[in-house]
Amino acid sequence: MKKILTLLCLLNLHAAFSQTAENIIIITTDGLRWQEVFSGMDSAIANNKKYNQGDSEVIYKKYWAADPIERRKKLLPFFWSTIESNGQLYGNRNYGNKIDNANPYWFSYPGYNEIFTGYPDTAINSNSYPPNPHTTLLEFLNNQPNYKNKVAAFGAWDAFDRILNEERGKFPVYSAFDLTGGPKPSATENTINAMLKDSYKPFGEAECLDVFTHYNAMHYLQTKKPKVLYISYGETDEWAHSGQYRDYLDAAKMVDKWIQDIWNYVQTDPFYKNKTAIFITTDHGRGDAKER
Ligand SMILES: [Zn+2]
Repeated sequence: MKKILTLLCLLNLHAAFSQTAENIIIITTDGLRWQEVFSGMDSAIANNKKYNQGDSEVIYKKYWAADPIERRKKLLPFFWSTIESNGQLYGNRNYGNKIDNANPYWFSYPGYNEIFTGYPDTAINSNSYPPNPHTTLLEFLNNQPNYKNKVAAFGAWDAFDRILNEERGKFPVYSAFDLTGGPKPSATENTINAMLKDSYKPFGEAECLDVFTHYNAMHYLQTKKPKVLYISYGETDEWAHSGQYRDYLDAAKMVDKWIQDIWNYVQTDPFYKNKTAIFITTDHGRGDAKER
């Protein structure tokens, strides 16, 4: 699964409301391929011994259907119900709808820089690039009177401290193994912090499991009521790098469920209901197994 094609799919989910959106939630899941989003599991990858760890039976049982329309529903049931009917969906290359990123590198930092500044910068050519010299959308909004101190970001990957320039931006960026709650954590924050410290760390110290990023972000959404929230999930990229297709699919399905949880919360809370836009996208694709 080499990163050959750079592909973004962009989803914009909002309820049928007439007023302008006052709040935004931006969600990314790193390196998720458009192929799975629009056609479900890919049999060429599932059948490849390099990527299935002998688990192809399990992968097929959970995710296979002959019809790609049925297949994608098995992987992303919320996408292909609520988002499909209430949102706008871009990037199905099967129909020539190409949402490409403009940077030539097709990996994470340049992709996120482009998402958050609206243009590519060829000088940003490494994932270890220093703090972003550009003002991101999040920093810009945090500098507007109506959004001041109402912006927050949660990322599984520690590079978001640099990508979003946490130091200059002056809004909180909780990344990787950062603890939440400051000097007075809530009971929930205490529990998540303790679990985060003791958790399995398959990606080393640079990236935590998505479950911690998600529950921290949800707790923040419910208790701090940010007007702008960014959540970055990372497991879709990590498991793809490891060549573990079953884990990659499971991670994608989990993100779909978490987006449903976010949507359900947003649509039951008067602060957010019918005035919050949710943008869902990815920083790059990763090509096809057959192109190796
Ligand atoms: Zn990436």
